[in-house]
Amino acid sequence: MYFHKIYILLLLLILSCSKDKMNGDITIIDDQGEMVTIDPSANRKSVGDSASDLLTELNFDIIHLEIFYVKGLQPTAATIQNFEDFLIARLHKSGGIEIELKEIESPGQAVYTIADIRNLEDGLRTAYNSENKIAVFGLYIDGEYSENTDNGSVLGVAYRNTSFVIFEETIKNFSGQPLAPSTTVLETTVLNHEFGHLMGMVNAGTPLQSDHQDTAHGRHCTSENCLMYWTAETGEGLLNMISGGTIPTFDDLCLEDLKANGGK
Ligand SMILES: [Zn+2]
Ligand SMILES: [Zn+2]
Repeated sequence: MYFHKIYILLLLLILSCSKDKMNGDITIIDDQGEMVTIDPSANRKSVGDSASDLLTELNFDIIHLEIFYVKGLQPTAATIQNFEDFLIARLHKSGGIEIELKEIESPGQAVYTIADIRNLEDGLRTAYNSENKIAVFGLYIDGEYSENTDNGSVLGVAYRNTSFVIFEETIKNFSGQPLAPSTTVLETTVLNHEFGHLMGMVNAGTPLQSDHQDTAHGRHCTSENCLMYWTAETGEGLLNMISGGTIPTFDDLCLEDLKANGGK
């Protein structure tokens, strides 16, 4: 009888788990501390799939950014202000732009693959799309990216339609070098660049209006001065690209694409 009960219980557990798995629903703790079941599938698509939803307010007039940072690796207040100004300038979000910063302990790894980062996101993220609000996840991580090479230290990656990671320890290593631009300049450039990918740039969800895709470097722009130039996301490249502490912006051709897809 006892075993029978356990068996039934196990069977029920297995059934409910597999049902959840089929739906893809997950349980999270919301801001009020309540356990809620939500469907994360709208936030688990490919980079660029939400370009139009980020740029326009046809479906969402509020954007909520939930940005986690490992203790000691918080982006500067000036970086967050620059980023907010960048979003205000490009997105139609008349309901508001909400940026929330949350501190976490180091996961304790020296090297992270994108699979590792996805797993971290799935454990940390509490903000998902709801009614009129589109949610974006950001992570400032310690350690380094598994794909780094001798002269290519990756500073950031956009890896899902509403998710990006910034390798902040790597950024600090570069901003600490003699004559390097400030941490805020490097941080802002990488953050805006990765968000540019979420906006569907270049030719990744936001269609080209002219021929300016640097196909040799994937989803990047051919203009060396553009925010979407490929060197903007590696430390070695970025030190060469930035002169006089100026943060790169979209060039006219990238702006044309964004506007044609509903951005400002
Ligand atoms: Zn890039
Ligand atoms: Zn461009």
